[in-house]
Amino acid sequence: MGLIDLASGASLWRGYDYFTSKRVLSHKKINDNTYSGKVGGNGADYDVEINLEHPRSSKCNCPHADGKRIICKHMAALYFAVFPKEADRFYNEALQAEQEEEERQDKLQGLLVEYVSRMKKSELQETLLQVLFDGPEWQYEHFLRDHIREYWE
Ligand SMILES: [Zn+2]
Repeated sequence: MGLIDLASGASLWRGYDYFTSKRVLSHKKINDNTYSGKVGGNGADYDVEINLEHPRSSKCNCPHADGKRIICKHMAALYFAVFPKEADRFYNEALQAEQEEEERQDKLQGLLVEYVSRMKKSELQETLLQVLFDGPEWQYEHFLRDHIREYWE
């Protein structure tokens, strides 16, 4: 698995952010699989080395990753600086995934509205009570307050 696949979503986003805000101060190629660089952190600059063949052997002297087999945001930032096209790809894919999820939610909502419009009165009554009894307490309270006059006595 590649470095990108092993990193958490949070590390990738923060690494992308570091890359686009030019916090990768320098980078150089050590060999075909290894790149090193300096990445500006909050206060300190970190020495980062990424290993493409064995991503877990990548190194960074930040407190989060030092001595651990973690892919940190500085490694992700260095990776994006070395391979800017991968940064574009990462961003576009994330954007596309977000759009697809939005479309999926819209479609599901449409189907739900359609389904409810076809339900029988007895089904609606049963479902409403179930939602009120099983749902959050504020919902139950709101319903009582809005519909049951004795609530106010
Ligand atoms: Zn780091």
